[in-house]
Amino acid sequence: MPPPVFRFAPSPNGYLHLGHAYSALLNADLARASGGKLLLRIEDIDRTRCRPAFEQAIYEDLSWLGLAWDGEVRRQSDHLALYHGAVERLSALGLIYPAFESRAEIARLVAVKETAAPWPRDPDGAPLYPGLGKQLSATKRADLIAAGVPYALRLDMTAAIALAGELSWQELGSGPDGETGSIAARPEAWGDVIIARKETPTSYHLSVVIDDALQGITEVVRGADLFWSTSVHRLLQHLLGLPAPVYRHHALLRDAEGRKLSKSTGSTGLRELRAAGVSPVDIRTMVGLGSAL
Ligand code: GLU
Repeated sequence: MPPPVFRFAPSPNGYLHLGHAYSALLNADLARASGGKLLLRIEDIDRTRCRPAFEQAIYEDLSWLGLAWDGEVRRQSDHLALYHGAVERLSALGLIYPAFESRAEIARLVAVKETAAPWPRDPDGAPLYPGLGKQLSATKRADLIAAGVPYALRLDMTAAIALAGELSWQELGSGPDGETGSIAARPEAWGDVIIARKETPTSYHLSVVIDDALQGITEVVRGADLFWSTSVHRLLQHLLGLPAPVYRHHALLRDAEGRKLSKSTGSTGLRELRAAGVSPVDIRTMVGLGSAL
């Protein structure tokens, strides 16, 4: 068996906090314990929120933590053409359609629907796509695109599931309700997810499965907030003929009020803690990983 390959995949849209430290250190510990590798990937496809300064801070904070990674860092924004190729493949399977409603229009459509009955939400709590993109004629789509109307490329979830059939993944950690072992994927819970946008030729879901495959990742260790996203990842892996890693979702660290840590949470930011004299060994203890650096 080749040695396992792990990855830490932060987005440079803010400074790292204790939750990131936990995830990164857990990946590093698992890689070390299994004689495996740890790769670093910068998930920076969202050009409106990601900043080079945050990327630099990621390298500094991880180095300060005593964390080293194998090989070159992979930066997603360097590979947009590759993701575009995958969108074309899904498109050739007849699984992609452009949807032209803005976020505000979608919110309005949902509000109208909800006057009658609750509208279904995805596992993150966002309403499923309520629009009519799938029904538009080829001519209408071409006209709107030619007129420069922004659009999102969505996955026809019903057609994608019909093509892929039932899928599952191997969970070594656990989901939000303690789910573990073989987990049946439920991509239908996400509706017609966005695969790419006019201005960004990819999405988190698409680039993560392509990069995990290209980097040879065998074990994905990440927060349990992404547990149900794995349903979409398994579906895309299947449709694109990519291998499926095993998954190990871990509990999220919470602040004193029980809230998920966010990138703007000063008191748990690694930079703030470092400035306050906290050491990397203290950080390991704070996140519950013991002191063995
Ligand atoms: N880039 C994602 C984040 O910072 C993590 C994605 C993943 O681990 O699959 O939340």
